[in-house]
Amino acid sequence: METIAFLGLGRMGLPMAKRLTAVGFDVRVWNRTPGKGAGLEEAGGAAEAVRGAGVVVTMLADGAALREVAGRIVGELAPGTLWVEMSSVGPVAVAELRAELPYGVGLVDAPVLGSVGPAASGGLTVLAGGRAEDVARARPVLAALGTVVDCGGPGTGAALKVVVISAIVGGVALVGEALAVADGYGLPAELTAEVLGAGPLAGLLARATSTEADFPVRLAAKDVALAAGTGPVLAAVAEGLNSRPGLAEQDLARYVDALRAEAAAPAR
Ligand code: NAP
Repeated sequence: METIAFLGLGRMGLPMAKRLTAVGFDVRVWNRTPGKGAGLEEAGGAAEAVRGAGVVVTMLADGAALREVAGRIVGELAPGTLWVEMSSVGPVAVAELRAELPYGVGLVDAPVLGSVGPAASGGLTVLAGGRAEDVARARPVLAALGTVVDCGGPGTGAALKVVVISAIVGGVALVGEALAVADGYGLPAELTAEVLGAGPLAGLLARATSTEADFPVRLAAKDVALAAGTGPVLAAVAEGLNSRPGLAEQDLARYVDALRAEAAAPAR
């Protein structure tokens, strides 16, 4: 079995790397801040991690992190290496990365839906884009992490991720504001949740009040900003998320808590 170099051991990356190790893959890890390997085989540098690995997986914060890591490893990638890019960075960053890769290095964009619990249990939804032969080669790795959705050619997984996550984050922000309006009116929270939760916003309500997800407001704002530009809503959502730097490392549901804590009765 090919060695996997797994780069990025944040909230998502560490449980994903552990999961790949637990199901039998030979995994070598690296993280910018050392010492986060939690018992996994930790390489001393990114270049060292990818040397000789057949598959490179990246799970990094954003496009800037991806560019920085690419700068450390591109020169080390031998023809035949497959890079599986699982961060949420959007299709433009994926295309820029593809343009930098040496001849013979494949790339699959495979961002995920689902938070830290599904990352640990192999319950993510993996949105895979790439050349058919590259996706086929990545499939055993991706399938160990969750349900694989074949999105199409290069960049389609990254694009669909932007679409879905911006809708979810925008929806959570909307539900949060609606809950704040309800609180402002003095409606019992259980009543509002019961009636809102019986309609089409049920899933968003569950996400807006989650205590298990760990998707920082900082990353939610990054995702919405990737999609913003075609209309006023997502730009406003990004602005709202970025207006509370104190919540940057907190889960998105804490943004909803903050809106509700400031709730006042609407004037009309
Ligand atoms: P995170 O906890 O913030 O971890 C980010 C990782 O990126 C860390 O390993 C960090 O290293 C690394 N990093 C950041 N800047 C870097 C740089 N300039 N150079 C090298 N490494 C850098 O994020 P996460 O929650 O694991 O999310 C990872 C990706 O998955 C993001 O794109 C996010 O949007 C997406 N995602 C997250 C969730 C979720 O629920 N959290 C769910 C689905 C998808 P250090 O430890 O050194 O800082």
